[in-house]
Amino acid sequence: MSARVIDGKAIAAAVRERVRGEVVAYEAEEGRVPTLATVIVGEDPASEIYVANKHRACEEVGVRSVHHGLAAGTTQNELLELVGQLGLDPDIDGILVQLPVPAQIDADAIVAAIDPGKDVDGLTPLNAGLLAHGTPGLVPCTPAGVMEILRHEAVELEGAEAVVVGRSKLVGVPVARLLLAADATVTICHSRTVDLAATCARADVLVAAVGVPRLLGADAIKPGAVVIDVGMNRSEDGLCGDVDFEAASGLAWAITPVPGGVGPMTIAMLLVNTLEAARRRSRG
Ligand code: NAP
Repeated sequence: MSARVIDGKAIAAAVRERVRGEVVAYEAEEGRVPTLATVIVGEDPASEIYVANKHRACEEVGVRSVHHGLAAGTTQNELLELVGQLGLDPDIDGILVQLPVPAQIDADAIVAAIDPGKDVDGLTPLNAGLLAHGTPGLVPCTPAGVMEILRHEAVELEGAEAVVVGRSKLVGVPVARLLLAADATVTICHSRTVDLAATCARADVLVAAVGVPRLLGADAIKPGAVVIDVGMNRSEDGLCGDVDFEAASGLAWAITPVPGGVGPMTIAMLLVNTLEAARRRSRG
């Protein structure tokens, strides 16, 4: 058996197309377009590429975006002040502070200062709490992208055994919460999990968000499983996931490749969140 390879690029393109149409409708109703503000502190080349891609994606769907590039020596108070101003600015719907920030800045304090209604990364304590409470506000983009893939592939989640490997605030925990909200039976694994492969091998839906190249091999895959590989690892032979794609493909029913699986979904869901934040603000 060879697994269906899930085309994340195509699913992301469909999401962006949907957002493009909804932005036109929003503008017709509100007389303005959703607007995203991005902030980078310092000159991290990777951050600059990520943020440039986000601006390009905004432009493609008619979302306005503005950028604030701050000097590497920016203080925590200066950044807090900008985040506060963006929170009060009526023209701004979404605020994204690209992480990591330089060492003199406490990233958690900055994230906590973002207006939760404009928190398009879904990382503020309020939005994390709402998700934990089962009444989601703005949901983190990569986990939302994972769920969009599962919806697109019509994966039955009710009663399914789901295993998430990784418990970060950014990916693992929110994915697990969303799977739970979709009535899956969810197990979260992490670096102290005993017999990781055996736990994963129970999964009808396996989500890997670890950051260890090809950690999960054939012994971690249940025949017929859906495997979602969030991992993005640079190895000698290029980008690879947390799952051994070749080994898993021989057992799974469907699997996301790396690259071209979950990756493209993250920016698509940022656009969804920016539009959603604008709509919620318009509703008041
Ligand atoms: P992270 O904050 O470093 O969290 C990694 C998680 O994996 C932690 O919970 C850690 O456990 C667990 N872990 C580490 N080694 C393990 C092992 N040997 N066995 C079991 N669990 C282990 O990473 P992250 O931000 O969640 O990102 C995870 C991966 O997703 C990375 O490759 C990242 O590049 C990728 N990513 C991709 C996208 C995308 O758009 N596709 C977006 C975000 C992240 P402990 O908690 O016990 O330390």
